[in-house]
Amino acid sequence: MKEALYWEKKEGGRVACHLCPHECVIAPGRRGRCRMRENRDGTLYSLNYSRVTAAALDPIEKKPLYHFYPGTAILSLGTLGCNLACAFCQNWEIAHGDVPTRYLPPEEAVALAERERVHGNIGLAFTYNEPFIWYEYVLDTARMSREKGLKNVLVTNGFVNPEPLEAILPYVDAMNIDVKAFREEYYHRLCGGKLEHVKRTVERAARSCHVEVTTLLVTDQNDSPEEVGELAAWLASIDPAIPLHLSRYFPAYKMNLPPTPVERLERAREEALKHLRYVYLGNVGADNDTFCPGCGAVLVARRGYAVAITGIEKGACRHCGRAVEFPV
Ligand code: SF4
Repeated sequence: MKEALYWEKKEGGRVACHLCPHECVIAPGRRGRCRMRENRDGTLYSLNYSRVTAAALDPIEKKPLYHFYPGTAILSLGTLGCNLACAFCQNWEIAHGDVPTRYLPPEEAVALAERERVHGNIGLAFTYNEPFIWYEYVLDTARMSREKGLKNVLVTNGFVNPEPLEAILPYVDAMNIDVKAFREEYYHRLCGGKLEHVKRTVERAARSCHVEVTTLLVTDQNDSPEEVGELAAWLASIDPAIPLHLSRYFPAYKMNLPPTPVERLERAREEALKHLRYVYLGNVGADNDTFCPGCGAVLVARRGYAVAITGIEKGACRHCGRAVEFPV
């Protein structure tokens, strides 16, 4: 157990947690909505510090990050808990269930990441469940990792308060942020959160580190061309080079709607490409090459997780010379 950051004492032994916009007020002996922060005798503790449910050397494309050192690998760590409650959660066993954890303190995580450099590892990704509710561990580990010259990646729902976000951003190199839909009603009905907070995170993070965005398109819920077009137009107002991953939904957790029709994903991509330079489809077996926005040549070829950087030379398109907008 580790004392939490971002909380204050309230009357009657209660504590208020200020880590995420839920702003839970927690009675003695109780936990916040994320299940991972507990009030013990008037002090808020993090229950998942150094508790790891999964550790794997993944392709960076699996996060997904397509414009951040393509073709490399990243040591990916997850824990338990989540501060949202998405009905379609694809990782519900760790987000909302309880599975065994292994003890992996920050210094051991960083040492493991360094050992994995021989297998192409570039750093640490905090992923699988929501990393911000693992905040104290992620912050300590990311600081150590940065000192060793490793990269730090967060794969997050973006539902975090501005102050803790500000404090961790100096140690974060890249984020994939889920924007689950572009309607407050959807966040309210299916996720138990608010879009406005997630938008704020995307806007702030994009000024500080590399950002890609993922949207799971759920059948008949958020997959209209109009909604995807609005999402893409907003992203383009931040930076039209932000990659958008439109991912196909499959039934999971509490949702049993049929999988998203592939033609709807393709139509959504067409719409998004009116605003953004890079839009990819996930969970459909598409090739997902990256094309040069200048001449249309293939810069990075992807077949599943097999990646070949075929069209880039000295940071520019091999065919037209246009500078490539991401690190390789
Ligand atoms: S991090 Fe957890 S305890 Fe804190 S406000 Fe969010 S849901 Fe509540």
